[in-house]
Amino acid sequence: MDGGSIPDYEDPDFTINDPYGTEFELSVLERSVPKHNRWALDAGCGYGRLSEIICERSDRVIFLDYSLSNLRRAKEKYYLGESNRYFILADIGKLPLKDGSLNLITSIRVLHHLSTPEIYISEFSRCLVPGGYAILSFNSGDNAAILLSFIINRILGTNLMGIGFNPLSGKTVMAGNSPPNRRIYFYRYGHIIRTARSMDLRYIIAHYHGGISDSASRHGAIVSNISRRAENAVFGKKISRYLFPNSYMVFSKSGSIESGEHEDLEDILACPICRTDIRLSGYKATCTTGHSFPLREGIIDFRIGMPSA
Ligand SMILES: [Zn+2]
Repeated sequence: MDGGSIPDYEDPDFTINDPYGTEFELSVLERSVPKHNRWALDAGCGYGRLSEIICERSDRVIFLDYSLSNLRRAKEKYYLGESNRYFILADIGKLPLKDGSLNLITSIRVLHHLSTPEIYISEFSRCLVPGGYAILSFNSGDNAAILLSFIINRILGTNLMGIGFNPLSGKTVMAGNSPPNRRIYFYRYGHIIRTARSMDLRYIIAHYHGGISDSASRHGAIVSNISRRAENAVFGKKISRYLFPNSYMVFSKSGSIESGEHEDLEDILACPICRTDIRLSGYKATCTTGHSFPLREGIIDFRIGMPSA
């Protein structure tokens, strides 16, 4: 979905080790994830860094990622012989799922790796039932550090944060140009909220973190505590978006709440190429019109254009 240049997600750099961030993110999920979900999707789950709360509160969980090595690790940790946890390799812009099949989608630190967030958000909206929730976290283009870096770059000719576009223009800000296929895009809140709204996803609330408070956390417990309190004091306030680079946004699909009838994974799978029904048999998943996808080690590989050796 990235103009043919999907980043190398097998790269170990995609494996985040961020104790402060993880602690905070778990506390946000604790507050944001609805209590009882029939079908949940962790979209871009990686190695399942933040999947615990989703599992606790959902009858069935689909772990979806583009990286086989990360998904294998997620499976090792979360499968545990449970028949209601599923592991799928797929392009997040071509979800192998039927319309209105999910009650909850979480997608943490994924959006800012995508050059076309519109496709990703429209896929989420398509797959959610009315009343279902999407929780997205990403790096914010409204963050003051970006603006400051841009100004400093202009004055001193430096390349702080590798900022590619003018953040004042309201366009997407691109950063981190090396390697070129691992860019980070800083989307502004207004853009994401408008995009989501045009696709029937209603914005509910945002939580913010990172930046100054992350740095403060490295200076001992007292400083960390003060910064955490300050951070909490501005949660949900409009100014927060300018202070913290990372955000969690919660959306709900318009319409009355529906509870799906689907029991089995087969009931909600759809071919990522032609959207027809999928049947699982032996070591493959096959759609009505004959597209076939390998099933190995309990992982279905719906990535399009991957060698099917
Ligand atoms: Zn097909």
